[in-house]
Amino acid sequence: MLNIVLFGPPGAGKGTQSERLIEKFGLVHLSTGDMFRMHINENTELGQKVKQIIADGILVDDSITIAMLEFEIDKHPDSKGFIFDGFPRTVAQAEALDKFLNEKNLNISKVLQLDVDENVIKERIALRQKVSGRADDGADKLLKRIDEYFNKTVHVLPYYIAQGKLTTISGVGEIDAISQKLFSAIEN
Ligand code: AMP
Repeated sequence: MLNIVLFGPPGAGKGTQSERLIEKFGLVHLSTGDMFRMHINENTELGQKVKQIIADGILVDDSITIAMLEFEIDKHPDSKGFIFDGFPRTVAQAEALDKFLNEKNLNISKVLQLDVDENVIKERIALRQKVSGRADDGADKLLKRIDEYFNKTVHVLPYYIAQGKLTTISGVGEIDAISQKLFSAIEN
């Protein structure tokens, strides 16, 4: 079973590259952001609980996020593998995922980091705001999410470095070229 964690800040191209990896390796895509948005759209109890947190661009509690993800993993017992997109975002989440997979005799195969400099991403957003010529609330929230990534989520990387599982790939350049680098990181 091939279990991949895809890491990277908002705007690094994780969504696009996830699609390529899913197609190539037949993986089930598990995006905690998508799961939360689905709960919000369907106005479930969980959706009501996390709506404001997500609107503010801050992280949802570990316990809520972990329980939701484990529930989704268990829906796919015959999967060839998973791509974890947007999870884990804290060391506690990474530890919980390992524990959950280990209990099923599974593990994380590789962790792929799409590396884009914080300033490059922020410049892209500032440029977009300038072009549109108006204050953009969405962009402010996006900046908050980027801060969360560089202040909190990056601290998960040493956890996977210690396990020898991390490969870092530049997220700047042609989409196809980046996909090829991700494919070879998985296959080698
Ligand atoms: P994303 O689409 O992955 O950027 O996620 C959108 C929002 O959902 C994030 O800004 C967080 O508020 C929340 N979220 C998604 N995944 C997680 C996670 N692993 N831990 C905590 N909050 C999360």
